[in-house]
Amino acid sequence: MGDRINFDAARMADRLARIAEVDVKTDEMIAPYTSYKIGGPTAVWAAPRTETGIGEVLTIVHTAGIPLFILGLGSNLLVSDKGWPWVTLYLGTNISRCSFDGTKATALAGTPLLGLIRDAVDRGLGGIELMAGIPGGVGGALRMNAGAFGQEIEQTTVTVKGFRLDGTLFEAERKEINFNYRRVPDLENVVITSGQFRFKKADVGLLKNRMDDILALRAKKQPLNYPSCGSVFKRPAGYYAGALIEEAGLKGERVGGAMISDKHAGFILNVDNAKAADIFRLIRRIEDKVYDRFGVRLEREVKLIGEFDDNGI
Ligand SMILES: Cc1cc2nc3c(=O)[nH]c(=O)nc-3n(C[C@H](O)[C@H](O)[C@H](O)COP(=O)(O)OP(=O)(O)OC[C@H]3O[C@@H](n4cnc5c(N)ncnc54)[C@H](O)[C@@H]3O)c2cc1C
Repeated sequence: MGDRINFDAARMADRLARIAEVDVKTDEMIAPYTSYKIGGPTAVWAAPRTETGIGEVLTIVHTAGIPLFILGLGSNLLVSDKGWPWVTLYLGTNISRCSFDGTKATALAGTPLLGLIRDAVDRGLGGIELMAGIPGGVGGALRMNAGAFGQEIEQTTVTVKGFRLDGTLFEAERKEINFNYRRVPDLENVVITSGQFRFKKADVGLLKNRMDDILALRAKKQPLNYPSCGSVFKRPAGYYAGALIEEAGLKGERVGGAMISDKHAGFILNVDNAKAADIFRLIRRIEDKVYDRFGVRLEREVKLIGEFDDNGI
């Protein structure tokens, strides 16, 4: 990959570093920024602290024709051991803030979803409390249409703001965006900078109980003691991925430091300094075996970033 693109990482880093309010690094390891704690270095790391800075980074990277990877809170990613040999645009803790106005809230992309949920619940605002425990940020949640227990981020979304990859402004209302199950084609080429949400008034105590019950249920059912990306696969129509994987006899199976959870077979865990290649081999093994046994082709929910043996982004 990349042989045909003339890329001088040091020069790109220099150019991006001239933009005010953007932190730039070279050869930054991605692993610490992911829930899997896996992933090699990125050639250029750009972490804007303002929305204007994001737009300026995009214009430069787009004009140079360099591939861009947008990193949120890194909880739905498997990043290659070779890393990402281009530019990574980090929209995490550097761009995180939310504010409320009545039943509405505006949250920047890197705001942790749980922070937004807790702030809403404290104000007696409901509609996303069942999503407590999803470890991503607002940008990643919108991009994935994250959801749990019957609530999806779509349901409370009013508008989404950001930039197209060429640095031009993007703004759309919820009704203009086609939200699907863990897939939002209209946002695939958008760098989301913020979302506006509208919640419903409800009793604070009731909302707190619902949130606490969900967090307890997750702790009981999910293997949260090891790094993971949550469910690796989407729910296939008419089945549960975890049940198919379990029935295929794959629970507890290991490759290197990676293991298919014996608590919830939909999770592949990093139990002992796993490589991305270890996780990937288990993904392929599950896909093949579930297809052979049940004729069901599992679709990946996790996003693969960079180079893998037979697949990538
Ligand atoms: C223990 C655990 C439990 C989980 N449970 C659930 C669950 O119940 N339901 C659920 O839906 N998910 C769940 N997830 C998956 C994950 O938390 C969600 O997909 C989350 O929305 C990802 O957000 P993120 O900020 O971490 O995005 P990242 O993982 O950083 O990125 C995910 C994708 O979004 C893109 N992206 C990120 N930020 C932006 C942005 N600002 N603009 C444009 N694109 C962007 C990335 O390029 C990538 O394609 C779970 C994960 C873990 C580890």
